Amino acid sequence: MDIEFIKTRLAPCGLHCGKCFAFIDGDIKNYSNKLKESLGDFDIYAKRFVDLIDEPLFNKYPDFKSLLAYFASAGCAGCRKEQCKLFKDCKVKECHVKQGVDFCFQCSEFPCDHTGFDQHLHQRSIDINKRMKEIGVESYYNEIKDKARY
Ligand code: SF4
Ligand code: SF4
Repeated sequence: MDIEFIKTRLAPCGLHCGKCFAFIDGDIKNYSNKLKESLGDFDIYAKRFVDLIDEPLFNKYPDFKSLLAYFASAGCAGCRKEQCKLFKDCKVKECHVKQGVDFCFQCSEFPCDHTGFDQHLHQRSIDINKRMKEIGVESYYNEIKDKARY
């Protein structure tokens, strides 16, 4: 896989933007649109199925539909192009440019304590970067490309 393509998916911190629910061309967005299409005008049937098959879960269809529409409208172009919608205190986006590296593991200060992340994400970023350093960015991308991010 071409490294320039991989960089449109993997953020400098190592997180996979392509697997993020907010990513404009991610699986979650694309499958949500497909599911929306397949469901068509399901609203009226959802109401009917409450009694028809005695399943009260269908009362929740409007909430499910709203969340599906939200996933289907994701529009983030990824960390290297715009500010992350999830981690607003992220310092890595600007820092990696100043340090002149594509990923944190390539930086002389790695692992640093000024990513701006909470403890959980900070550790996750370190683990991912160590793995990229160990096997290379392309192999890491291939290793995780079919796995869920969450
Ligand atoms: S920049 Fe943040 S919100 Fe956007 S796709 Fe990447 S992880 Fe998701
Ligand atoms: S200083 Fe820290 S956040 Fe910045 S590029 Fe280096 S390792 Fe990443």
